[in-house]
Amino acid sequence: MQKRDEKITKIKGIGKAAEKDFSSLGITTYYDLVSFVPRSYEDRRSEKRLRDASGEDNTVYCKITVLKKDFIPTKKGRTLKVRAEDENGDEIDLYCFNRDYLDKTLYIGHSYFISASVSKNRSLYMAAAFEIKRSPRELDLGKIIPLYSLSGNLKEKTVRFAVDEALNALSPMEDELKKETYERLGLLHHSSAYYLVHHPNNFEDVQRALRTLSFTELFYMALKSAREKTYEDVKKVHPSISNLEKKLIKNLTFSLTEDQEKALDEIRSDIDRKDPMNRLLEGDVGSGKTLVAWLSALHVIAKGEQVAFMAPTELLAKQHAENAARLLEPLGVRLCYLTGSIKSKSRPLLLNALKEGEVDLAIGTHALFTEDVTFKKLTYVIIDEQHRFGVEQRNALLEKAKRPNVLSMTATPIPRTLALTFYSNLDLSEIKHKPDGRKEIKTFLVSSKKREEMLNAIEVEFKRGHQAYFVYPRIEGDDEGSLKAVEIMFEELKKRYPEYKSAAVHSRMKDEEKIDALNKFRDGEYQYLVATSVIEVGIDVPNATCIIIEHADRFGLSALHQLRGRVGRSSLPSYCFLVFSDNITDDAKERLKVMKSTNDGFKIAEKDLEIRGPGDITGFKQSGYLKMRFASITRDQDLLLLAKDEAERIAKDDKGLIKAENAILRNYIDIYAK
Ligand code: ADP
Ligand code: MG
Repeated sequence: MQKRDEKITKIKGIGKAAEKDFSSLGITTYYDLVSFVPRSYEDRRSEKRLRDASGEDNTVYCKITVLKKDFIPTKKGRTLKVRAEDENGDEIDLYCFNRDYLDKTLYIGHSYFISASVSKNRSLYMAAAFEIKRSPRELDLGKIIPLYSLSGNLKEKTVRFAVDEALNALSPMEDELKKETYERLGLLHHSSAYYLVHHPNNFEDVQRALRTLSFTELFYMALKSAREKTYEDVKKVHPSISNLEKKLIKNLTFSLTEDQEKALDEIRSDIDRKDPMNRLLEGDVGSGKTLVAWLSALHVIAKGEQVAFMAPTELLAKQHAENAARLLEPLGVRLCYLTGSIKSKSRPLLLNALKEGEVDLAIGTHALFTEDVTFKKLTYVIIDEQHRFGVEQRNALLEKAKRPNVLSMTATPIPRTLALTFYSNLDLSEIKHKPDGRKEIKTFLVSSKKREEMLNAIEVEFKRGHQAYFVYPRIEGDDEGSLKAVEIMFEELKKRYPEYKSAAVHSRMKDEEKIDALNKFRDGEYQYLVATSVIEVGIDVPNATCIIIEHADRFGLSALHQLRGRVGRSSLPSYCFLVFSDNITDDAKERLKVMKSTNDGFKIAEKDLEIRGPGDITGFKQSGYLKMRFASITRDQDLLLLAKDEAERIAKDDKGLIKAENAILRNYIDIYAK
């Protein structure tokens, strides 16, 4: 066993209780301790006197002189109170609860050093939480002190002690990169990096140490992925465009955007190549991904092969099926729609048609890939909103075909560099620009006081013949009645807008009812829909120009962005109203501000990462991303590029890492990229 894997219980003073507390911080070994990055630092390099304390940082470290000592009465008896002054002459009362013994060690007229959290009452400072010592060294004055995240009964002191023990035991830490890499990129050697993270002389040390450690971590993940990549130059095939595709393009009332053309070109040449495609199509809501999907499906159908299109919900699958019927059936494409709820007599017929190859394009939910479904010649699978599917569902799907081409579509983008670094076998197409003529959606943050004004503004939109969505977090009201909910608001809005027709849509309705309501809304029979976030993805009604999201603070950023994407789907000016509650949290405030400041889905996804951390993002788990100790996706974009370049250079030259100079990499890649 390597010393770095030694258990922390070897350290004296770390017993069962501490072991448990450490373990809940993810720390079980010496190396875990050494790589435990402080959450922040306290700068005790220069003295901080009483008047330097502020509301934001009320700590002080300074020399004081004792002026007098008193015992004052308390509920439980008495306690020592020490009055002292600092070198500015400002005075402080130190309340020595349960520390009467200080009476014996502190002398009037003598000087000491304190570190304390102070508060101020008129001109007098006070502290009950303080340390007092004879020498500045005992308080680490003159140093920068690491502060660690704690858990259970752990104290900063215990963690500091344990970290130092581990540092001592493991030092000197050996190099983890090639000598040449350190020099070229100006990195610290690892023994210094690990030491300085915990004991920096200045804040530059912290930066440099973290840069080295983060780089190393990213580098090994990139190296793993670079070794899996094939570097043979893939011959660019110049794809021919089938007549089916040409016909659809001719039928459109608009022309494809440049980004759509480019994405299609990339997909077509992937499909025409021998190796299966694995491509991610990223594009903001409403950027026209679906059309790219249909055209690419035609590319495959034209060869006499089958295509499956999988959507995350029945509602969305149905919308897509109707959309496809409108665009593709006139071209002679044979469609079928298959979801879990289709269990009637028609199901065996559908399944048989798929098996016999009498269907070209199957649209549905993951039910497309349940056991009883077989395809005659399925070669292309399209996954809409791929981030909503679990790994298992995706795998079930891939089993239905031999090495099919896969196109995943998402409006919740992973930053490009990250995707390319960690998913070695993934290609990326981006639709960056939406079709021309789209107006920026105007977003308003509305407090409950301004709600009435908003309702008036929406009425004006109704008068113009435009439509709206009202969105609520719940179907029914809660017990306290503090939340507006679909059922209640449906009735209230009817009273508010008596001359307009509306419908409610939520997950407890039958699918046929939902679809019926949506169709009538699209046909203009209803002026507005009152809904839960079931309408979050895919619904496409260009004449809807307003979306009102009540209790917007209860929705996550990506849900808000998706919901907002229901409007702004034509050249009409569109509006999004985010109505927030009175008792809104700081995080929620931050989210709403982001929504107001940008319409760019990529920016919103990045902000989301910043606010939430990467914890919830699907796909990252498998990439090992979540196991990162040092690197941060938002902070370290530049390092990521450096790491990727370095890794690819090495992998191209020595994929097996068999050269002597790469021995060190062979060793550490197993440790980092498990
Ligand atoms: P996404 O799937 O990316 O959210 P959609 O495919 O639903 O976006 O497209 C949104 C709307 O834009 C649809 O009504 C679609 O017909 C329309 N659209 C697609 N491409 C173009 C284009 N090149 N020009 C104009 N409108 C387009
Ligand atoms: Mg879509």
